[in-house]
Amino acid sequence: MPRPTGRHFLQIPGPTNVPERILRAMAQSTIDHRGPEFVELWNDVRAGLARIIGTKGGVVLYPGSGTGAWEAALSNTLNPGDRVLMCDTGHFAAKWLEMASQIGLQPEVIEVEWGNGADPEAIEAKLKEDENHKIKAVCIVHNETSTGVASRLKEVRDAIDTSRHPALYMVDTISSLASIPYHQDDLGVDVTVGCSQKGLMLPPGFGFNGISDKALDAAKSARKARSYWEWTAMIQAAKSGSFSYTPPTNLLYGLREAVSMLEEEGMDNVFARHDRHAEATRRCVRHWDLELVCRNPEEYSSSLTAVWLPQGHDADEFRKVVLERFNMSLGNGLGQLAGRVFRIGHLGDFNDLMLAGTLSGVEMGLAIAGVPFNKGGVQVALDYLAGNA
Ligand code: PLP
Repeated sequence: MPRPTGRHFLQIPGPTNVPERILRAMAQSTIDHRGPEFVELWNDVRAGLARIIGTKGGVVLYPGSGTGAWEAALSNTLNPGDRVLMCDTGHFAAKWLEMASQIGLQPEVIEVEWGNGADPEAIEAKLKEDENHKIKAVCIVHNETSTGVASRLKEVRDAIDTSRHPALYMVDTISSLASIPYHQDDLGVDVTVGCSQKGLMLPPGFGFNGISDKALDAAKSARKARSYWEWTAMIQAAKSGSFSYTPPTNLLYGLREAVSMLEEEGMDNVFARHDRHAEATRRCVRHWDLELVCRNPEEYSSSLTAVWLPQGHDADEFRKVVLERFNMSLGNGLGQLAGRVFRIGHLGDFNDLMLAGTLSGVEMGLAIAGVPFNKGGVQVALDYLAGNA
């Protein structure tokens, strides 16, 4: 293949484009993580991350990925054999519930047709049935990255409250945080699960938990085996501005810059920008006469749009054309959607012209791959962007 020119369009729904400011912030000598300079960095970063999560509670961060932060959430708060209520809303929800089984918990699964979010009514019914409070946690993936569906977290909280159930509420915000409104404390979430490489605009490399007082209390008596993920040691170390083991120092420089960038823009503006790009994308897709995976407009994701290819057309062949001809990576179909769906990531550091380029690459790719579609979707998106500043 000839050398691709220009910049690569990384339009998968994470890892996302890392802005220059963050790359520069990370390009520093690594400092002594037991020295005074680190204390200031770590204190700043923890406070900033807590503001982004929306919590006055604790925040712990691990070198690792989102998957590690899932395991940390479960293993710090639960006992072997505990029942956890989970909704199979897509590939990532399915992986989280698979993990719960693997580490000795008993997931109680609410089946959901992929393309829909977690069903608050079904959750309420399950919790009401559970009179002896055997279910210890309700675990929800906020933004299901495989389908482009954002579950209604407030309604789920209301379902837990209405059923007067004491279960912990755990939320995976991996592809929603800093893209779709989220506030741990206002939502009454006990454990937030997140990671670096999506709305926070950083390279992959760390996962984190936001922790409520109720979750911290549960951790005191939780008997699930854990060592690397142990919250207590990390929280203790953080009190003196230190870290239990070697932190991903340069990523923390990047995180400090990411929080500054998000706060300079203003979180409401960050969310509005994501909404607007998502809306422009959906208008474009509808004009192409292709179908969105997300069924319910109340659950549209502002981070990504997942799109069905018509029967008989291979989504991976289409993505290959787009990569080879236009140097753009689109997300693949995952799990039961493999080969049938492609995903357009429009989260993180992104603007109108980047979206215009992305949609243009998709439209040209559809034509080259011989997928039947209605030309002119990009123009519809451009008209929307031009008319809605
Ligand atoms: N949860 C969601 C919603 C995700 O999108 C992902 C990854 O894309 C994960 C969990 C797993 O995170 P990681 O790949 O960082 O381990």
